[in-house]
Amino acid sequence: MELYDVIIIGGGPAGLNAAVVLGRCRRKVLLFDHGKQRNLKSHGMHNYLTRDDIKPLQFLEAARKEIKKYGVTLKSVAVNNADKKNENYFTVTDINRKNYHSKKLILATGLKDKLPAIPGAAALYGNSMYHCPYCDGWEVADKKLAVYSKPKGGVELALTLTCFSNNITLFTDGKKYMRKSDKNILDKKNIKVISTPIKSFEGKNGKLKNITLVNGEKHMADALFFSGGYEVQCGLVESLGCTMGKDSLALTNKSQQTNIKGLYVAGDASKDMHFVVVAAAEGAKAAVYVNKELMSEENKKKPFG
Ligand SMILES: Cc1cc2nc3c(=O)[nH]c(=O)nc-3n(C[C@H](O)[C@H](O)[C@H](O)COP(=O)(O)OP(=O)(O)OC[C@H]3O[C@@H](n4cnc5c(N)ncnc54)[C@H](O)[C@@H]3O)c2cc1C
Repeated sequence: MELYDVIIIGGGPAGLNAAVVLGRCRRKVLLFDHGKQRNLKSHGMHNYLTRDDIKPLQFLEAARKEIKKYGVTLKSVAVNNADKKNENYFTVTDINRKNYHSKKLILATGLKDKLPAIPGAAALYGNSMYHCPYCDGWEVADKKLAVYSKPKGGVELALTLTCFSNNITLFTDGKKYMRKSDKNILDKKNIKVISTPIKSFEGKNGKLKNITLVNGEKHMADALFFSGGYEVQCGLVESLGCTMGKDSLALTNKSQQTNIKGLYVAGDASKDMHFVVVAAAEGAKAAVYVNKELMSEENKKKPFG
């Protein structure tokens, strides 16, 4: 039986950064990825020093080249099962029913966003419809901005956007209830609230033009930010028996370790902030603690540091 030191599932920033650290430690590493990184629709990546505005695919291609240099094996295939029935190793099964085994397992399987269920949304996503003001707010500074949110997260999102523009309208798509205290704060910041249900988003070449309401009114906007939530890309974290926190995100300690010995979770699939730089940092952290754990087992000593 071929035994890897580490299998990593997920080749976004978290998994790739874990791979480069472990590759440089000359560990035997296998990385699985089925190419559905969360930010692929983005026009350019921000908040990652020295890589400002890089296209996500360009970033991934450079990262894949680096992990290859350090001997990491990349398999572009989906994994549909992982278990630890044997106490000494994990077994990972790909969609072709092929099994692979490793001493340690890092899950960096990410999330996917739930888009508003409104005609026109998919064509705008990533180009003029965003979920994160920190990632895309600067690019639409001083423009006419719309916020789409049925849940109460819309108030916070609209207020965050006041860093970027003073022309903001919050659309609640039929949801009329709003706490009076929230409405007062929005009024003070001149944020308009429209609760009439939305019929469609209209735009051209990915650029939003109008938000059309069911009563026929059209509201022009240059960009829209939405808060609709997200879901996990795959259920492996849960099926392996990890303790889960809010929103089906895995709970880990500061070393990215889960409650299952030898199993680590890094990136958006764990509970911290959803940024590329944070995902990459968590991947690096997981890799270092995996390496420490392997060394300690190899030396039959307690973990270092
Ligand atoms: C439109 C948009 C724009 C964004 N802009 C920015 C930005 O400017 N700056 C920033 O810091 N952040 C940005 N983000 C957030 C950023 O994309 C995430 O924080 C980051 O991608 C998380 O990295 P990750 O490695 O955890 O997950 P991901 O990048 O999502 O990677 C997870 C990988 O796991 C793979 N995978 C999952 N399950 C399996 C399986 N069973 N088998 C095989 N492979 C699997 C997927 O195919 C995917 O490639 C943006 C997000 C979106 C949606």
